Amino acid sequence: MRILVIEDEQKMADLLKRGLEEEGFSVEVAYDGDTGLKTGKERKFDILLLDVTLPGMDGFTVARELRAANIKTPILMLTARDSTDMKVQGLDSGADDYVTKPFAFAELLARLRALLRRAEDITKLQIGDLVLDLIHRKVTRGGEEVQLTGKEFNLLEFFMRHPDEILSRETLSEKVWHETFDALTNVIDVYINYLRNKVDRNREPKLIHTIRGVGYMLKTPEKQA
Ligand code: CA
Repeated sequence: MRILVIEDEQKMADLLKRGLEEEGFSVEVAYDGDTGLKTGKERKFDILLLDVTLPGMDGFTVARELRAANIKTPILMLTARDSTDMKVQGLDSGADDYVTKPFAFAELLARLRALLRRAEDITKLQIGDLVLDLIHRKVTRGGEEVQLTGKEFNLLEFFMRHPDEILSRETLSEKVWHETFDALTNVIDVYINYLRNKVDRNREPKLIHTIRGVGYMLKTPEKQA
């Protein structure tokens, strides 16, 4: 997990860096808002820890500028005191959560982990032991990687966004291929077979089911008798 810490106080920055590294984070520190903003824009981090009171550009501005630049990395803000106004301002500027100084390191960690989990929930789809990672475009079943082509991935993503729904060939043509069904009569069935071979073969329970005469369904294990 890569974390960018934006904190001007050397002692606090050192403490955070050491503590977070001990927890397995790979830590980068920026000591002012401008550097923090630049680093946060140019490089990819899993989470940002952002102090509000910084020399030059303050934490609120950094958060706002990052969001304006379409950087969606979760931000945990460090507010200097227990002031409702500051918390509201922090959340308004695009931070996802805040911790008030002085804080217990355990609380900070718990908040960071909660934010990371939330971010993961948004970027991953899961049905049973089948997991689709939308950011890295990777699929695993039972922890084993499943190699899919781009089109297979898109098809599986569509199924995973509509679990336990009957999807007709017409719907799949339109939503996944963006073409009319006439052009694709056999193509859909061929791709479903590819997916089955990669996702369900030698594995239980089977997830992709044929609904005779109607279409296909990705059945969640809980719904299977
Ligand atoms: Ca500060």
